[in-house]
Amino acid sequence: MFDKTALDTLAALSHNGFNVYQAADPGHAAEIILSEITPAVAPRVVSYGDSLSVRETGVLDVFRQDPGIEFIDTFEEGVDRGELIERRRRALTCDLFFTGANALTGNGKLVNLDMVGNRVAGLIFGPRQVVVVAGANKIVPDANAGVRRIREVAGPQNAARHGARTPCAKTGRCMDCKSPDRICNVWTITDKCWPKGRIHVVLVDGSLGL
Ligand code: SF4
Repeated sequence: MFDKTALDTLAALSHNGFNVYQAADPGHAAEIILSEITPAVAPRVVSYGDSLSVRETGVLDVFRQDPGIEFIDTFEEGVDRGELIERRRRALTCDLFFTGANALTGNGKLVNLDMVGNRVAGLIFGPRQVVVVAGANKIVPDANAGVRRIREVAGPQNAARHGARTPCAKTGRCMDCKSPDRICNVWTITDKCWPKGRIHVVLVDGSLGL
């Protein structure tokens, strides 16, 4: 059950031009994506930027196995990095792009920090439509609080998840490192969705992703 903060955040996102959806859990998010959003977009090419929240819905496997969809797998295991970078470039012209958000603000903005940039690039421009899946744990009061959350929580935990040789992966604290493995390179704040309705935000009740 969404609390007032979550409902106010959804209202603010809607006011800023995002299409918003409420999901009780990741399974419900998948249902919304597959029965409401996807039929309206009718995508031929689908891709994604890395996101634990999107993976938890299971929708990527549905598109991966759909013979009517060209699924550009930007993180396929066993594929060399050069090929994955090429796929991430092609993903920026897909019809439907999936990603997460590092923080959603109470005044209806998305805050993100990226290593390579393919995730935030797809959010900004290129794919015809974008779906952002995020748990209510990502809600923060404002963009400054979003930056703090990312530095204190998402950055160090993501570095550890990717096996990065960074100080935060060992200590759990951001040291604003100069490591070659640094995962924190590109910040974006999406104030408003333009064109209106291009970005669909599926907010999932409870905690999802980092
Ligand atoms: S800047 Fe460096 S230390 Fe800080 S979270 Fe990013 S990778 Fe970790």
